[in-house]
Amino acid sequence: MPNFRGYIFDLDGTVYLGEKAIPGASETIAELRKRGCGVVFLSNKPLQRRPAYAEKLTHLGIPTSPDQVINSSLVLARYLAREMPGATVFAIGEPPLLDELAAAGLRLGQTPAEIEVVVASFDRTFDYRKLDIGFQALRRGARFLATNADPTCPVEEGEIPDAGAVIGALDGCSGRKVELVVGKPSSLIVEIALKQLGLPAEACLVVGDRLETDILMGRRAGMSTALVLSGVTRKEDLVHSAVQPDYVLESIADLPFD
Ligand SMILES: [Mg+2]
Repeated sequence: MPNFRGYIFDLDGTVYLGEKAIPGASETIAELRKRGCGVVFLSNKPLQRRPAYAEKLTHLGIPTSPDQVINSSLVLARYLAREMPGATVFAIGEPPLLDELAAAGLRLGQTPAEIEVVVASFDRTFDYRKLDIGFQALRRGARFLATNADPTCPVEEGEIPDAGAVIGALDGCSGRKVELVVGKPSSLIVEIALKQLGLPAEACLVVGDRLETDILMGRRAGMSTALVLSGVTRKEDLVHSAVQPDYVLESIADLPFD
């Protein structure tokens, strides 16, 4: 593996698992930074805002500033602020997503006739009332976007339903297909990451544990890709996958240096 100028790390399953750092993560990242490499962290998880991720990483021994973390709710807020500034949005999501949208100047609404965009996201308080508001707005022609499309989210005890389930519920009643998912593997999240690094795609390595998000995103963008086996993907999953990484590592600790 050559040396890269920029490294884009997934978080869950790559840098940490739950509340624990993957062994060697802090040492590897410290070494990359010492060598002057750019490092950013990308997460599809819309449950926190950047300062909370930065604080968690710092607490795990990886000193990080909020601008070094990019997640799907930030990408969505930036996209809407650019494409539909001030639009009225109904988001099925948790408070940090709503805060991110409001901070980007979007209006949060619950009246179907006023809603211009319905956002499907990861929401552990999802209920029939929210589904109905989203359904009524979609029937009236609101745009249908999502932060991420992950079917489930890994937790210590297994998995719980993620934004993919909310997309499915809205699709199931309205017959509308989600138009745009901004999280990985979307090119929108890559653009923000490369801008933050100040580097072209070909100078970067993406390191992640999911083939259909991290690795697919990297391949589409023209970056080199490394799959780590410390998260959801097992070596045998590679046999039948259409998405193939350039490198396969046991974990982040095995990133080679010369
Ligand atoms: Mg992951």
